[in-house]
Amino acid sequence: MHHLAAGIYIRHPSSFEHDTGGHPENARRLTAIEEAMSERDWLGMELIEAPTVERELLHRVHGARHVDSIEELSGRGGGMIDLDTVASAGSWEAALHSAGGAVMGVERLLTDGGFAFCGLRPPGHHAERDRAMGFCLFNNLAVAAAHAIEAHGVDRILILDWDVHHGNGTEAIFYDSAQVLYASIHQSPLYPGTGAIGDTGSGEGEGFTVNLPVPPGSGPDEFLSLVQHVVAPIAREWRPGLVCISAGYDAHRDDPLANCELDEAAYADMAGTMRNLGSDLGAPVLVCLEGGYALAALAASVVATLEALADDRRPRSAPEGPAAAYRSEHTGSWPVLGDG
Ligand SMILES: [Zn+2]
Repeated sequence: MHHLAAGIYIRHPSSFEHDTGGHPENARRLTAIEEAMSERDWLGMELIEAPTVERELLHRVHGARHVDSIEELSGRGGGMIDLDTVASAGSWEAALHSAGGAVMGVERLLTDGGFAFCGLRPPGHHAERDRAMGFCLFNNLAVAAAHAIEAHGVDRILILDWDVHHGNGTEAIFYDSAQVLYASIHQSPLYPGTGAIGDTGSGEGEGFTVNLPVPPGSGPDEFLSLVQHVVAPIAREWRPGLVCISAGYDAHRDDPLANCELDEAAYADMAGTMRNLGSDLGAPVLVCLEGGYALAALAASVVATLEALADDRRPRSAPEGPAAAYRSEHTGSWPVLGDG
């Protein structure tokens, strides 16, 4: 069988200058990932540098005052934004490249197909239109999705968020949109407390938010079942032109910030499922790093994800059991859900 495109790995040195001190979301995360990738010759991926994002592109999902406030805080040398979220002198540049890398990923994927991984920080999925929070300054993936819609006319974009925390920012930004289907698997209860199963979007976006909260202790069967038996069937029916993954690795069993039980193989199986989905739909796959705080687990899980996106091994088939409960609870409220 032919292998798929080797993929694009997007990085930038400024990601290491977003200095958060002793915070779990720190530059050692990327050092761990890049060491693991470098030892494996970057899996043959094309390594490219993220450009800065243009301000107009940020303004598609963020208010001007929010963008200005990050620039000003960083310009003053940084400081705390909230109890979880910090900026340093290097954060403004890092944030511009983190969003810019995701936008470049869209540009490249819509030309060449295949998949791209943004190994950049700060992460993005908690950032709301007018608010940095949860270690996130700008919502990188939301900026990239908005760019795909506005500049390239992609009218259906799937975002699967497998970070263990709910991506409140991404959900809120696209809550009224029928062009972005946001699906999140997240531990509940857990920060930030959003992501109830009954929150399904509003207005034109009704049915285009698919929240799949799972209890503490959930493991590979639960996550993979929801990807294979809820998210993938919805996507096959809806046929997105771009598949995005908000890829946090804090549902790993070693992660200190949550209580789920994934391992590297689970991330490979979820990624392989999304690869097959993208391949069947003719849709490229954009992956943006979000959380993940156990360094060795993070690095191994990113490698497993990228290996699965590049090869053609079949992912394990998860039991339908865990997904069946969600489907029966939700028949009718997700309008694009296949056979209910
Ligand atoms: Zn997270």
